[in-house]
Amino acid sequence: MTKPPLTVAEIEKLSDDFEAATPAEIINWAVGQFSPHLAASSSFQTQSLPLLHLISTIDPGLPVFFLDTGFHFWETLIYREQLQRYFRITIQDLYPDPSWQPFLRRYGPDLVEQDPDLCCFIRKVQPMQKAVKGLRAWISGIRRDQTENRKHAKILEVERGGLLKVNPLLNWTREDVRNYASQHNLPAHPLYEKGYRSIGCKPCTVAINLGEDDRAGRWKGRGKTECGLHTEMFRQDAPPPVHIAASN
Ligand code: SF4
Repeated sequence: MTKPPLTVAEIEKLSDDFEAATPAEIINWAVGQFSPHLAASSSFQTQSLPLLHLISTIDPGLPVFFLDTGFHFWETLIYREQLQRYFRITIQDLYPDPSWQPFLRRYGPDLVEQDPDLCCFIRKVQPMQKAVKGLRAWISGIRRDQTENRKHAKILEVERGGLLKVNPLLNWTREDVRNYASQHNLPAHPLYEKGYRSIGCKPCTVAINLGEDDRAGRWKGRGKTECGLHTEMFRQDAPPPVHIAASN
């Protein structure tokens, strides 16, 4: 039976209470409160293991969105297949809206370098905005220790259209993720041992050096740290301003 919507005060109180809860307790609550109007998202890398494993034990039928940007490492696509079989979870691939295809055919190669915000909007943000339409809640695997922006996130956050974003792993650290994967004997992404600690699209990801932050290999040297799924960009309908000059 669908439960009545929560008030803002109830959401704030629950979010504060969840600071002391385990990820499993938070996911269990979300499933009980919102299923079947609930989904999760994952980028299918080593850091995704706790969330995917918990979903597999709590509700393997829960849809897990994977953004197929067309730029993934082949290792990520194989790992996605491996985890789907291993965990028996329910993955839904998301793609850019077909209306962008003429634009992407013309400007696609320039976009990644010249306007990564627009590229991320077309390939990640907008497909996710469409996928969550009609849902009441979305579970994400972000953690406070990942980026400056994420330090300020809350466990429950109200998103566009009243969608509730649930961040059950927010308080975990990369050591917690490592320990969890080790305790449960979970397989790492094939590029992990080659120094890739945070893995996104191939043109925007490099291996990190010893002592560097896990996300230092994302959009390296380009002043970008987030794709937009977990920033203000997700709340906007229009693409960001265009900064691109097409090559001949
Ligand atoms: S991470 Fe890079 S290639 Fe992937 S969508 Fe964003 S800008 Fe484009």
